[in-house]
Amino acid sequence: MDSLLRHMVDMTGHRDHTMLDISVVSAVQELSGAVQTRVLTIATVCGQKFVRPRACIRAGGVACPEEAQDGNPGEPISAFPTLAHCLEHHDSRAEGSGPDGLWRLWLPIWFGDKADTCLEITHERGFTGEAIHTISGIVSVYRNFQNLLDYSERDSLTGLLNRKTFDDQLARMLHASDVAPLVPGQPERRHHGAEEKQWLAVIDVDHFKGVNDRFGHLYGDEVLILVANLLQSSFRAQDRVFRFGGEEFVVLLRSTTLENARKIIDRFRTNVEAHDFPQVGRVTVSVGFTSIRATDSPVVTLGHADQALYFAKANGRNRACHYDELVAKGLLQTIAANDIAEFF
Ligand code: GH3
Ligand code: MG
Ligand code: MG
Repeated sequence: MDSLLRHMVDMTGHRDHTMLDISVVSAVQELSGAVQTRVLTIATVCGQKFVRPRACIRAGGVACPEEAQDGNPGEPISAFPTLAHCLEHHDSRAEGSGPDGLWRLWLPIWFGDKADTCLEITHERGFTGEAIHTISGIVSVYRNFQNLLDYSERDSLTGLLNRKTFDDQLARMLHASDVAPLVPGQPERRHHGAEEKQWLAVIDVDHFKGVNDRFGHLYGDEVLILVANLLQSSFRAQDRVFRFGGEEFVVLLRSTTLENARKIIDRFRTNVEAHDFPQVGRVTVSVGFTSIRATDSPVVTLGHADQALYFAKANGRNRACHYDELVAKGLLQTIAANDIAEFF
């Protein structure tokens, strides 16, 4: 089979962003005879753009950079002036030679006026018109397919990740953050003396049925969209936010201490409480959260966070409860034993 066609078949055979990235860099690398091809993430943190490689292949071998940890956003865009200029002007590509004498071609993947992914191809010589034409074709297929994958992974109302992707994202987070600290005999990851863990929070809007009943379903939907926006602005770039259905959301928080997790979760809870929802006015949320043990199945971890959530609901709502703390205080067993029929 013609090699371009073979690469197209390979690229469109994936149902996973990581594999799609790897197959696009392989295709471009082979078809253009490049020195190096990378997929770059362009992240905006506090109004500043950062560039971080997420897939990379070099002539003669594959090198895949580790996923960024602890919120490291990557290199500032100022280290890539040609790319920065290209993004500023919404150009479809930029090309230039660097101090190392190599040529680089950048092809941002535009969705509307946003480009959070860019292909970077490094070559010993400049690119011919024909090479650019072929590469641009591959990038268009990549863009369309990425769009399709995004669509299947996201909730249509809020744009958050959907439940279908949860197990996969949880496994990825455990792998990337290496939960070895929780395995006996391994050193713990610590920050200012406190152990860093992964956390799972289940969030449920309080008395949401009342919002629908008083203001109608459309206003209810608007509340869900605004809560989703507050989730995205309150949690960190390395955390993952899902809509699990209805008015229930789940957040995976990566590598942080109990104190920090509590602070971040409470920041979100108070942001919702302080928000003036159009027509509806005040809305609150209850949260149950737990640390993630690599040995527990996703269902068990979700069950723990759910138990803490129901405790929060039964004890006044508009609060965040920590499963392990409730268990240590003997509070959860009391609730679970006495009111199990009511809560489950
Ligand atoms: P609690 O504080 O105990 O959580 O009470 P609640 O009223 O929030 O909980 P309940 O489970 O009784 O009601 C949830 C409501 O959410 C019922 C359902 O009609 C509504 N709902 C579920 N999905 C959607 C949606 O996509 N849009 C809108 N507008 N409402 C939804
Ligand atoms: Mg609710
Ligand atoms: Mg609910």
